[in-house]
Amino acid sequence: MTTKLAQRLSRLGTETAFAVSAEAAAHAAKGNKIYPFHLGDMNIPTPGNIVEATIRAMKDGKTGYCPNYGIPRLREILAEDINRSHGTDYAMENVAIQPGGKPVINKFFLAMMNPGDEVLYPSPGYPIYESQIEFHDGVAVPYRYVEGENNFEFVLGEIEEAITPKTRLLVLNDLQNPTGAECSERQLQKVAELAQKYDLFVLCDEAYFDIRYEGRSKSLASLPGMAERCLILYTFSKRFAMTGWRLGAAVGPEDLIDTIAKLNVNDESCSNHFIQYGAIEGLTGDQSEPKEILRVLKQRRDKAVDLLNDIEGIRCFKPNATFYLFPNATAAMKNKGITDYEQFRKTALAETGVSFCTRRHFGRPLPGETELYIRLAYSGIDVGEIEEGLALFKQFVER
Ligand code: PLP
Repeated sequence: MTTKLAQRLSRLGTETAFAVSAEAAAHAAKGNKIYPFHLGDMNIPTPGNIVEATIRAMKDGKTGYCPNYGIPRLREILAEDINRSHGTDYAMENVAIQPGGKPVINKFFLAMMNPGDEVLYPSPGYPIYESQIEFHDGVAVPYRYVEGENNFEFVLGEIEEAITPKTRLLVLNDLQNPTGAECSERQLQKVAELAQKYDLFVLCDEAYFDIRYEGRSKSLASLPGMAERCLILYTFSKRFAMTGWRLGAAVGPEDLIDTIAKLNVNDESCSNHFIQYGAIEGLTGDQSEPKEILRVLKQRRDKAVDLLNDIEGIRCFKPNATFYLFPNATAAMKNKGITDYEQFRKTALAETGVSFCTRRHFGRPLPGETELYIRLAYSGIDVGEIEEGLALFKQFVER
């Protein structure tokens, strides 16, 4: 007998990168060597001082429920930390701790979107936006990221053209997954102008705000008049190599934060209690390990970009932020006589062990898309393996 599931599930998408990861694990279980470029997970250990502070908190009995907003000290310190990096003026009342950054997406749409509302979101982009907008009965309206001179960029004019009287929300994932794109100050300013002109509220997904190798990140929420119309998705996952710990936060206007905290009560009561003490140590303690994480990632990026650009038919930018690469593989696929993404991906996995995602894992392709892209994450693979894997991939592509 099949279980009669709710109809709304027909609208729920998923993050298919996890399926690629499972496929790679199955291939490895048969004794094959895998080069894991598929998932934005990290093989770098969480800084030792965070681990120790967490264990201490556990031993100190921080093992019961805690406030559904998160522990006050962490909310306070996180607000201060964000104010320092963003130039904003948040207080602890603007922070609701979450079990990861991802839950902010669902809670944002639950709190802000009515059925039939149109939401602008990036494509290619993190697939959970499309999934959650449609699951909650909104209308997902994509805006494109295309190749610019030195990196990908969104098409600003298209964002404005897509706005209708029903558009209420915009998702901005600056320092973007999968492309590594980053807004210039002028572009951020333009987005702020659009949000104010059309009265849009913005989900600022800042999962990679601190994963940058040069210069400083800038947040839309820091522009004049924008803190009141932005909700920041914050996460400890990437900055502190804590993907599996599941800790993040929603940061924004107090009334919205109160609503999100009420959703916390309904969903999970509170985020893990003792981990929040580890997070306090992460934000206030010794920063040498988080710095080392960036050094390691930068070395991997440089190696991977050089090797990819040395493959016939592959063209890859060198983004200054995130740990993703989104090379154009149109000519490489053509040379191999493959036009189907899944065929290319699966054949590469079977013949080389190199496992990656493609554009298909980042939202529905848009009409008129002719170029073909693959996405490689270098957060879970060491330099030696990058060299070995991409050498095999080169042979595969050029064969
Ligand atoms: N947003 C983006 C763009 C991401 O790439 C990710 C994770 O890969 C997340 C949010 C969620 O991360 P987490 O739930 O680990 O904080």
